[in-house]
Amino acid sequence: MTVKQKEYDFVIIGSGIGGLVSAVLLALEGKSVIVLEKNHQIGGSLQVFSRDKRIFDTGVHYIGSLDEGENLNKIFKYLGIMDDLSMKRLDDDCFDLIYFPDGSTYSHGQGYEKFKEGLYANFPDEKTGIDAFCDKMVEICDFFPLYNLEDEDSSTKNYVSNPEILSISAWDFVESITSDKRLQSVLLGSGLLYAGDRKTTPMYVVALIMNSYLKGSYRMLNGGSQIAKLLTKKIHQLGGLVLKHQDVESASYSDKNVYCVRTKAGDEFFGKHFISNTHPKKTVEIFGKDRFRAAYRHRLDKLSNTVSSFMLYLSFEKDTFPYMNYNMYAYTKDEVWDTVDYNKEEWPEALFICTPATKGQGEFADSMSVMAYMDYSEVEEWSETFNTVAMAGERGESYEEFKLRKEELVIKRLEKIFPDLRKSIRSVYSSTPLTYKDYIGTEDGALYGILKDHNNIMLSKINARTRVPNLYQTGQNLVFHGILGATIGALVTCFNFIDSKELIEKIKDA
Ligand SMILES: Cc1cc2nc3c(=O)[nH]c(=O)nc-3n(C[C@H](O)[C@H](O)[C@H](O)COP(=O)(O)OP(=O)(O)OC[C@H]3O[C@@H](n4cnc5c(N)ncnc54)[C@H](O)[C@@H]3O)c2cc1C
Repeated sequence: MTVKQKEYDFVIIGSGIGGLVSAVLLALEGKSVIVLEKNHQIGGSLQVFSRDKRIFDTGVHYIGSLDEGENLNKIFKYLGIMDDLSMKRLDDDCFDLIYFPDGSTYSHGQGYEKFKEGLYANFPDEKTGIDAFCDKMVEICDFFPLYNLEDEDSSTKNYVSNPEILSISAWDFVESITSDKRLQSVLLGSGLLYAGDRKTTPMYVVALIMNSYLKGSYRMLNGGSQIAKLLTKKIHQLGGLVLKHQDVESASYSDKNVYCVRTKAGDEFFGKHFISNTHPKKTVEIFGKDRFRAAYRHRLDKLSNTVSSFMLYLSFEKDTFPYMNYNMYAYTKDEVWDTVDYNKEEWPEALFICTPATKGQGEFADSMSVMAYMDYSEVEEWSETFNTVAMAGERGESYEEFKLRKEELVIKRLEKIFPDLRKSIRSVYSSTPLTYKDYIGTEDGALYGILKDHNNIMLSKINARTRVPNLYQTGQNLVFHGILGATIGALVTCFNFIDSKELIEKIKDA
């Protein structure tokens, strides 16, 4: 029987972290799995690219909760990849540095103690507010049993029975604990990690993300693609398959159940169960609009995605630019959470800056990656173009000119922070929302999938189960985004097939 004729227990569409983790979890239970990925490289946002012998991450710059005993560390141990990861822990006293237009900087230290100590030093009269912020994060995280590797069904304290926890506005909360404008901005200064926005961002998103980074922040040496490679190796060891260049476009049904999916090339893959790791809208497109309730489709149509981004990648001349073992969040205005809806004339108003770490990382950085919010509308005129390694295409001269203009604006902004930067630059590369749209398959290149809005939290709720009895979803849209969030999403998906209590115990014992 060939790969295509075989009926798999699980056919998984998309090799993002959610798809790959689901595949390993199921394969560890003895299920036969196949992962179908449209791209030339596996991993979704874990993909990297190489220029001038430098490796650049496209969508994962640092990962939290990786200290010994923390949730992601334990899950990765259970998946059998933790010991093989090569990574570098960011600085204890400062893993994130918040940089304001007047040149002043504020450090976020790792662990609640260091985080508080750093802030107390800068804001000695604001201890109460700083403590209240940390206490709230801990309190909120306790409402997410799975995040703490506890079974959701056996926990009385959870967000399902206390949904009001989800509707707390992060900005309102921070304003309620301190009137110090600068402290407000410092507490929420790493907002590019979750596209923090005054009007919409719920406090639970801030809590789940920041808490995880306080529990062990690491850079992946030579890029995050190692995670996808290790998971793929594991899938293959367990008898499963991960296939690239498989752009799934439709599904066939026997009565109410899917029995096979079909790729653009016309190949068919048969399964008992199907898991989609694509954006929920894409899932509906692939599996057929008529198979989903109209109300669900309308809800998806009303949903907003998070903003997209422009990425600048600099390769440096040897030994010219110091390696920074921390990330920098730099703003051109004090109102850090008014930068998602940015003023085009002032762009870029907010930057995430990091120097990727390499194996044997020394004193100097060989590259820099910089992210700035960019709305899809800025590149809409080229939306008919498509360009990936798997399906190469041209976007035209005007697009290249657009990119050059934007690159220069970001470099000029960076020079305000690093006046000698230009002397270190060897080459400049960049990507736009179109790059994310084409590689990840979202309609607008969204940074972190569906927008979570505290004003209407139910609107963004995506379930693992779908109306099609044997079709499930996984990935960043289920619980929250990021490597930790999408990994937890995979657990949620797999609890439909594996007893949750037993699996959590196995993870804890790993
Ligand atoms: C610029 C950027 C920076 C980020 N920085 C960080 C960070 O520092 N730390 C962190 O933890 N997180 C970060 N994130 C978020 C994190 O990368 C994502 O939340 C996470 O990787 C999403 O995983 P996922 O499982 O949802 O799948 P995705 O990564 O979204 O992958 C989906 C996969 O499905 C495939 N696919 C889509 N359609 C089809 C089809 N029709 N057929 C076959 N395959 C298909 C896609 O090609 C893709 O491989 C960042 C994201 C971005 C974009």
